[in-house]
Amino acid sequence: NGFVELGLAPELVQAVADLGYTQPTGVQLKAIPLAMGSGNDSTKFIDLMVSSQTGSGKTAAFLLPVLHTLIKQQAAAEAEERAAFERAVAEAAARGEPAPKRAKRKDPTSSRNFKAATPGALILCPTRELAQQVAHDAIDLVKHCRGLRVANVVGGMPYQLQIAKLQNANLVVATPGRLLDLQRSMQIKLDKVQFLVVDEADRMLDLGFSDDLAELNQLTSQRKQTMMFSATFAPRIQQLAMRVMHDGGSSVQ
Ligand code: AMP
Repeated sequence: NGFVELGLAPELVQAVADLGYTQPTGVQLKAIPLAMGSGNDSTKFIDLMVSSQTGSGKTAAFLLPVLHTLIKQQAAAEAEERAAFERAVAEAAARGEPAPKRAKRKDPTSSRNFKAATPGALILCPTRELAQQVAHDAIDLVKHCRGLRVANVVGGMPYQLQIAKLQNANLVVATPGRLLDLQRSMQIKLDKVQFLVVDEADRMLDLGFSDDLAELNQLTSQRKQTMMFSATFAPRIQQLAMRVMHDGGSSVQ
């Protein structure tokens, strides 16, 4: 399976195999290694501007590297939590005290425990239909990932249902308008977003989302990685890239 060579987490290799993908497509081969970070410094991610047509496999080209990094970060956080707990147990034993109990996770569905959602990754799509398709693909790809949750935020869906699904979401797939509504009503905080993907950037501009994109860019972490996918690199797309990406992003054709 050609996805193994890309260095993707085994959970993701298994998911693409389940979907029947055996070889990465052209855009996946080019974009995934770049998006996963440079070899000697995997904490340094570059911004990308990718030319891609529908049907080229572009959705997996951005979902796979983002999910890969979320999986790695989650594993590192869990290892850190385990190590801290083991240290606390050892310290208590040295003092002759009873071992501490592990903190119980709060039930996120209880309204008493309501907290604004703080996703680590955000995928922006121009239309509700595309956002639903991308969220569907993301759900297929995370099926072997314990504890990674995907939520879909689009206009026209009941507000309460959407808010409930947002809780604990790591990756949010959204149209810009509804997402900004939820942000303004403080149901979601975007400052933990480290990966921002703009899918079909040319259609985003056709639909008048330029200012919304600039606002979402400001609300998300300034140290994030941004990837823009577009059918064309027309001058107006390059202007948008200059506005939202470090150095306008590296181009992948
Ligand atoms: P997209 O360009 O993201 O709309 O993808 C077009 C179609 O290609 C979708 O139905 C995907 O499920 C499928 N696809 C994506 N990557 C691969 C791959 N590496 N091998 C086979 N099919 C793929």
